Amino acid sequence: MSKAPGWFASMLSQKCPHCRSEKVFLHPSYSFSFLQMHEKCPHCQMNFEPEPGFYWGAMYITYAFNAGLAITASLVMFLFFGNPDIWVYVGVIAGLSLVLAPVFFRYSRMILLYGLGGKKFDATLYKKA
Ligand SMILES: [Zn+2]
Repeated sequence: MSKAPGWFASMLSQKCPHCRSEKVFLHPSYSFSFLQMHEKCPHCQMNFEPEPGFYWGAMYITYAFNAGLAITASLVMFLFFGNPDIWVYVGVIAGLSLVLAPVFFRYSRMILLYGLGGKKFDATLYKKA
């Protein structure tokens, strides 16, 4: 039996937190169906929505991602691009937020699922993909 990846690598690759074998989302991040998730893990049957409204909390994580993005982009523009006009800040931050929205959406859900999903990793369920 091969060794399972660590929890962080599994979360980055958007795998089920219980078996770390199957993807949580059905389609790639940059597709029109990027929102769709499996209801249950196809391998271990872990329920990916443990309770109704489980992912409402992911909004706060997305907010934190966007705040971090705005602060980082502002610092980079201020320090390395000579403090441009305010509309440049607004345009760059809004553009990056839109481009990164699917990534932020998915990783905020993954953080919530790994943190509060209610299932720990079970090494006996891991199968090499
Ligand atoms: Zn699973």
